[in-house]
Amino acid sequence: MTSHDIKTSKHKGKIPKISIKTVQKPSYIVEHSKLQRFDQKAIIFERVMWDSSWEGYKKRYDEKVLDVVTQGKDGYSRVDFALAYASWIIHDAFAGGFSWTKIKTYRTPVDNIGIDWTKTKHEVDDPQKTNAFIKRAAKLFGASLIGICRLNRNWLYADVKIPERFENAIVMAVEMDAGGITTSPAAPAAASTGVGYSKMAFILAGVGEFIRNLGYEAIQCGNDTALSIPLAIDAGLGELGRNGLLITPHYGPRIRLCKIFTDLPLKYDKPIEFGVKEFCKKCKLCAKHCETEAISMDNEPTFEVTCRSNNPGALKWYVDVERCYLFWWENGTDCSTCIKICPYNIMSAARINPSPREF
Ligand code: SF4
Ligand code: SF4
Repeated sequence: MTSHDIKTSKHKGKIPKISIKTVQKPSYIVEHSKLQRFDQKAIIFERVMWDSSWEGYKKRYDEKVLDVVTQGKDGYSRVDFALAYASWIIHDAFAGGFSWTKIKTYRTPVDNIGIDWTKTKHEVDDPQKTNAFIKRAAKLFGASLIGICRLNRNWLYADVKIPERFENAIVMAVEMDAGGITTSPAAPAAASTGVGYSKMAFILAGVGEFIRNLGYEAIQCGNDTALSIPLAIDAGLGELGRNGLLITPHYGPRIRLCKIFTDLPLKYDKPIEFGVKEFCKKCKLCAKHCETEAISMDNEPTFEVTCRSNNPGALKWYVDVERCYLFWWENGTDCSTCIKICPYNIMSAARINPSPREF
């Protein structure tokens, strides 16, 4: 897509100007009296398994696949679903992707290993230099964006305990395939999502082991352990959008997020702002195109949550993830329409967003 296409499409008049500024404080507004660490049991996929008070209880969306395939719609064939399910395989099968300790390998110990040099700490005289090689490594392993921040423990899930020495968070974004996402809510978009998750496992394992080989510790996390979006905002990767997703200046919301907590000394990046909240107030495209009206049409963000899977205490447009999940169930697969339609994504697919900052 070119910028000309954008001007002639339904995005006419809805193309944000991106001017990134670094700021001292993250762009989110929280009310500390309401803020609490998020209970993982409230995650919508968990509630499918235990919350008998909710309509989505025991409604697993894979049970719809055969029905949906039979309907013969474009993007919902047996081939499309086979690809979408395959896309998750590294994420789902490679436990090393989410390890908190040295990853076990299939190789048997060999006789020619003498002293384990990885057990001594690499001396850090300048955390700025450490940032540079961590970011280069993350990029080498496939991360699209990397930011570093102090670990704000408000974002850890309620039942998670992490020793105080893990002070730092390396937050990484992985770009998802732009072409696949354009097919949402059909299964090729789900394949783009699954590949994003599988890449996360690969990147996390590589960066995690790199840190351990320097003599430090690494806790590798996908969606588990802590809320990724506020950490990504803290680390300067983007701002929160109306669609409840991180909007990055470089790829819009068309990314997946993962993070590593570590005791490796690092220098922090600054949060950024580029006008997302003000743009979202008027844009509303994600809300208009959501098949199930799960996204708020209100002009202003609020502290009022929409369902028990929302975490209270932040000023934002809360997404009704119960409705969202029920649409996924009807659809037989997940949906990325609020990513596809977002002008920040459209711009990145047309390659008119700013390039990612230098690593
Ligand atoms: S994923 Fe789809 S159903 Fe869910 S909020 Fe986004 S557009 Fe709506
Ligand atoms: S599509 Fe939604 S998230 Fe994206 S800019 Fe518009 S209102 Fe914001």
